[in-house]
Amino acid sequence: MVRFKTKEQQQMVLNNGHLLFDNKPVIIKEWGPDVALIKHDVKKVPIWMKLYGLEVKFWGPGSLRKISEEVGRFIRYDDATTNRRFFGFARVLIEVTIGQEFPKDIIFQDELGVTQMVMVDYDWLPLPCSKCKGIGHEETLCRKSDAPKPVKKVWRPK
Ligand SMILES: [Zn+2]
Repeated sequence: MVRFKTKEQQQMVLNNGHLLFDNKPVIIKEWGPDVALIKHDVKKVPIWMKLYGLEVKFWGPGSLRKISEEVGRFIRYDDATTNRRFFGFARVLIEVTIGQEFPKDIIFQDELGVTQMVMVDYDWLPLPCSKCKGIGHEETLCRKSDAPKPVKKVWRPK
C-alpha cells in the first residue's frame, strides 16, 4: 500500500490507471473499506510486447495498434520505438487478460494483401497459478507448492 502526500498526486496516479514496476504491472486502486485485496479481482493487466522482424513501414502508430490488437488492447508504444533508436524491435504496451493465449508470432495482411509475419516476445506474462491463485508464474514454479501443510488441530476434551 502506498500513501500519497497530496490528493492531487494520488489522483494523478489513479487516473493514469496502469503503472509498471520493474516491468511487472502494479495494480492501482483507491483504498477504501470495501476494496477487497483479492487476487481474483484482477482480470486484465498491462504488459510490454516486443515485435521483431517488422518492416519499417509498419512502425507507425496505426500499424502498431492494428498488429498489437491481435493479442490485446493497445495502450501505447515506448519512446525508443517512437524515436526509432533501436531498429531491432518495436515495443508496445498492451492490456491483456490473465490466462489468455500469448502467440509467438502474429500474421497479418498488409495494404497490398501480402501476408506478413512478426515474431513476438514478452517481458513478462500474466500466467495464472492454480495453486495460489496468483499471477506471473506457473504451478511448477509456485513458492507455495513446497510450503508445509498446516498442522491439523486435534480437539481434546478438557
Ligand atoms: Zn502460485
